[in-house]
Amino acid sequence: MQVARFVKGELPAYGILDGEDLVVLRSDPLFDSWDTTGERVPLGEVRLLSPMIPRSKVVGIGRNYAAHLAEMGNELPPEPLVFLKPNTAVIGPDDPIVLPPYSREVHHEAELAVVISRMCKYVPAARAADVIYGYTVANDVSARDVQRSDSQWTRAKAFDTSCPLGPWIETDLDVTDLAVRAWVDGELRQDGRTSQLIFTVPELIEYVSGIFTLLPGDVILTGTPAGVGPIEAGQRVEVEVEGIGRFGNPVVRR
Ligand code: MG
Repeated sequence: MQVARFVKGELPAYGILDGEDLVVLRSDPLFDSWDTTGERVPLGEVRLLSPMIPRSKVVGIGRNYAAHLAEMGNELPPEPLVFLKPNTAVIGPDDPIVLPPYSREVHHEAELAVVISRMCKYVPAARAADVIYGYTVANDVSARDVQRSDSQWTRAKAFDTSCPLGPWIETDLDVTDLAVRAWVDGELRQDGRTSQLIFTVPELIEYVSGIFTLLPGDVILTGTPAGVGPIEAGQRVEVEVEGIGRFGNPVVRR
């Protein structure tokens, strides 16, 4: 099932994708029921929002595709490299990515994102499926020059608008071998596959839940494949994960 969050009237609402329509839900199914209102709205007539605003955190994973490590000149990490993005970094489809004024080199990073279904800690990899609500698509927008010059990644990866999520959450998907792509102004820049992940989704859930309590609606970004590159004001960047969907954001400078 694909669960979208969108603007209905002036309020956010949730809907299940059914063909070209959204079947409107009474509430957020992550926290409540899957009951519908009986109403249908055409997908083309609504503005999609980020599928959720995480109540606590987006957990990022760096250096999780070998070809991306090679292009960055980094070594294979012995363990997943973990960072955080605050929920203020999250935006939805078509919301502008605002380049931070302290950076001159901001990159796109298309990624598979995992949405957590319930409070959990110390989840063994073999039980990871029990805590996965679904999957969405992320752009881990990164100020690469600042990532190099600062000794940690907060300014580089946690600024406002650095975490576009969309277009919806797919709740039923085998993510072991899916294409992960990015385009800038329609030109394909990234084209990797989740089968190239160094640490798999179950392994990441075990590792990350050994650090933090995970809460419903928390998001884990799984890392980006090769092909990262700059985005400039005036461009449009799109990201896609096969089997979930594709969305884009305009890039602006404040
Ligand atoms: Mg990344």
